[in-house]
Amino acid sequence: MGSSGLRTILLRGNIPAPSTKGMQNSANKVNEKIEIQNVADMADIRTELKTINKMRGHPESHIDVEGDGCYNNPLYSGIGKTPFQPATQSCYVVVENMTDKKLVINLVTKNKLCSHGKDHSNENINKKNCKCTQNLQMVESIGNEQRSASESLSKLYSEGFEVRHITTDPDSSAYRAAEQLASNYNSKVTPEHLIDTRHFSDNHRKQIKKNEILTSLMPARTKKQREDLIGRFALDLSQRCHAEYKSALKHCDGNFQTLQKKAGIEDPWINKSIYLPKTFKLNLTLKQQSELRKCINYRLGPKELERTKLGTNTQKSECVNRIIRRSLPRSNTFSKNFQGRANSAVSSANHGPGESVMALCLSVGAPVTAGSKVHTHLQQEQKIYENHKQYKKLPKYMKNRKQKAKIKFELYSKNQEVNKYEKGMLLKSQKNIRQKMADTTRGDHEAYTKKAKKS
Ligand SMILES: [Zn+2]
Repeated sequence: MGSSGLRTILLRGNIPAPSTKGMQNSANKVNEKIEIQNVADMADIRTELKTINKMRGHPESHIDVEGDGCYNNPLYSGIGKTPFQPATQSCYVVVENMTDKKLVINLVTKNKLCSHGKDHSNENINKKNCKCTQNLQMVESIGNEQRSASESLSKLYSEGFEVRHITTDPDSSAYRAAEQLASNYNSKVTPEHLIDTRHFSDNHRKQIKKNEILTSLMPARTKKQREDLIGRFALDLSQRCHAEYKSALKHCDGNFQTLQKKAGIEDPWINKSIYLPKTFKLNLTLKQQSELRKCINYRLGPKELERTKLGTNTQKSECVNRIIRRSLPRSNTFSKNFQGRANSAVSSANHGPGESVMALCLSVGAPVTAGSKVHTHLQQEQKIYENHKQYKKLPKYMKNRKQKAKIKFELYSKNQEVNKYEKGMLLKSQKNIRQKMADTTRGDHEAYTKKAKKS
């Protein structure tokens, strides 16, 4: 929300609102301070990580990270409307993967917009004679994750860290930045690239869904039904592969060396499946079995297991990106205070909404008085946030969520049946019936017309 948004809310609540210009001026003033505070805070977290390593008896410099970027506009939208990529601002977040908290340890922001409306395309962006926060030229590619990751990771390397594992999306080139930096800094540790398990499962699902041989095998009458069923089968199989993998990892206490020997979930899977009916069964020939095996190997093959061996995902960096989105909504573009907003969002992701507001207020010279009403309310906010976070981890919550999804899928299949079923078909003209029956199988149709002729 910008200053005009806040004004609208206050005025609609019958409360006198401060002027837009006044609010903008104070926002401009605190922008830099917030950035400084958050950068210092992330540096503290990095120092703490070294201490944690020491206490665990690991080499101090080793670090596991995950990274993901987000943009103010989708990278591939609006093709034709703009000659460049439509995004003009980007944030690249690096999250530590060593503690349960998964804190953000570095943020790189790129901004192509000049808040004074000037064109800096012919100037050196670092030496421009303008007080705006633009730090990327219009002609450069904003979707270059490797550059952002390199900038972010070089900070870690310059502080003496050595990246051990880096988890990214399958299509990201950020790990190349890590490799490059490791050789530049003569690091003894070669960074290992791991793929985010959630993106991987999603790609797996799409792969199964596209498989035409498997689609033709689905036990359903019409083409549409088979396509519907393969979609569910793909969801089920990709989740099953992931579950098998996780269960195997649990069996060997996270020891990857013994994992490949053990696998297998004990309970019958199909009874618990939320996507497929209990009666679902495939009768496969040998050739068809090998096709199915290929599909499974896409996720559980030896190479693929190696690349997901820690079961890490980029869930946290995506969560941070959602929090950033809250401070930098798609509907508004904040060309001037973009950096400050992104940093305040990261601070909120690291410390929770209450604590972060108190720390940021202190840093800009307007501390929240201890014991005041505002202080109490912020503490309450913080507590609600933490309780909610805990609640989301409970098995009860997860089970509930699964149950809801199951009900939805059942409702969908039932509803489809209702939609297809029509009363009084016999009384309608033959031509009409033929049109209605166009999507059912031919055999069915013939039997039906024969019956109709007889009567
Ligand atoms: Zn400018």
